[in-house]
Amino acid sequence: MKHNFGAGPGILPHEVLKQAAEGVLNFNGTGLSILEISHRSAEFESVLNEAVSLVKELFNVPEGYSVLFMQGGASSQFALAPYNLLPDGGKAAYVETGVWANKALKEAKLFGQVEIVATAKESNYTYIPKDFTIPKDAAYIHITSNNTIYGTQMKEFFKSPIPVVCDMSSDIFSRKVDVSDFGLIYAGAQKNMGPAGVTLVIIKNDILGKVDRKIPSMFNYQVQIEGGSMYNTPPCFAIYVSMLTLRWLKAKGGVAGIEQENDAKAKALYTEIDRNPLFKGVCAVEDRSHMNVCFVVENPEHEKPFLKYCDEKGIVGIKGHRSVGGFRASIYNALPITSVHVLIDAMQEFQENNK
Ligand code: PMP
Repeated sequence: MKHNFGAGPGILPHEVLKQAAEGVLNFNGTGLSILEISHRSAEFESVLNEAVSLVKELFNVPEGYSVLFMQGGASSQFALAPYNLLPDGGKAAYVETGVWANKALKEAKLFGQVEIVATAKESNYTYIPKDFTIPKDAAYIHITSNNTIYGTQMKEFFKSPIPVVCDMSSDIFSRKVDVSDFGLIYAGAQKNMGPAGVTLVIIKNDILGKVDRKIPSMFNYQVQIEGGSMYNTPPCFAIYVSMLTLRWLKAKGGVAGIEQENDAKAKALYTEIDRNPLFKGVCAVEDRSHMNVCFVVENPEHEKPFLKYCDEKGIVGIKGHRSVGGFRASIYNALPITSVHVLIDAMQEFQENNK
C-alpha cells in the first residue's frame, strides 16, 4: 500500500476510485461508459445537478451565488477574474503570498492596474502578511487561501468593502468558510475535489456586469452561468469523479467533519516536526498550512537518505517543491490519519537510526 502525500493531483478516496472505475465500464447500469454518454443525457444532467447541489450544501453557499464547473484549471481563472471583473483603466488589489498569487497578478496586469497591497516575497513566502489596507477604489482584492508550495495558509478571512476573489485550489472543502465573505472563489479540482480537468467556480452574481469590454463566450462567467456549465461539452468524467468525492465528503460529516480530521492530522505531524531534532518547519508557526506541511532536515546530508527511507515504507510524494527544498507532506482530505502516523513513525525511526 502506498501513502500518497503528493501535492497535486493529490490523493482521492479509494472508494471513489472504485466507483469511478465501475462508471468507466458501466455507468449506473446503463451499459454505457461515463466516458461515452452524452452530456445532454438525463443521466449526465443528474450527475451535474447533484455535483452543484453538493457544493451548495457542503459549503453552505448563500442565495445569489452561482456554482460553475469550468475547464482550464485555476491558471485560467487567474485571467478570467480580471477579464470579467476589472474595468479598463481600473485597479485590482493583490496579496502576494507565493508563486501562484504572483502568476494571478501577472494576468491581471493584462487588463488594468495592479496594486500589491502586501507581499511576503522578501522571506520566500514563509508567512502570510496580515496588515494591509484594502483600497476601496479597487475592483476587487485577490487572495490565495493556501499556498501549496510554501505551506502557509490564511487562517482568517475578512469582511471587505470590495469583492474578495480567492484562489482556494489547495484547501477547498478542507475547513468551514463563510462564502458570503467572497465575491469569487475558484479552485482547480485536483487536490481536494476530484481529478485534474475541472475547475470549481463559486461566484456572486451581482459582481458581474461591471466591465464594458467584450468577453469571448467561453471566458465569460455570465455566459457560463446562463449555460449552467454546459455552454459547451463539459469535462464529464472529471465532474463525475468530483461528484463522487463530494458524496464521500458528505458521508464523512461534511466540511465540519473533515476539518476536525484535518486538524488532528496537521497537529500530529507538526508536533513531530517540532519534537524531532533532525527536522524543522519552514513557515511562521501561526500560518502553518493544514494541507501542505513543509519541513526541512537540520543536516542536509540527511535529505536523500530520509527520502529513500520513506520510499521503502511506501511514503510517496513528499519531496519538497524545488523553490523551497526539503519535504512537503500534503495531507489533503482523502489522506487517512493512518498514513500520517506511518510518516511520523518513519521520522522517529530515522531519528533512532541516525544518533
Ligand atoms: N493555485 C494554487 C494555490 C495551486 O496550488 C495551483 C496548482 N498547484 C494552481 C493555482 C494552478 O492550478 P492549475 O494547474 O489547475 O492551473
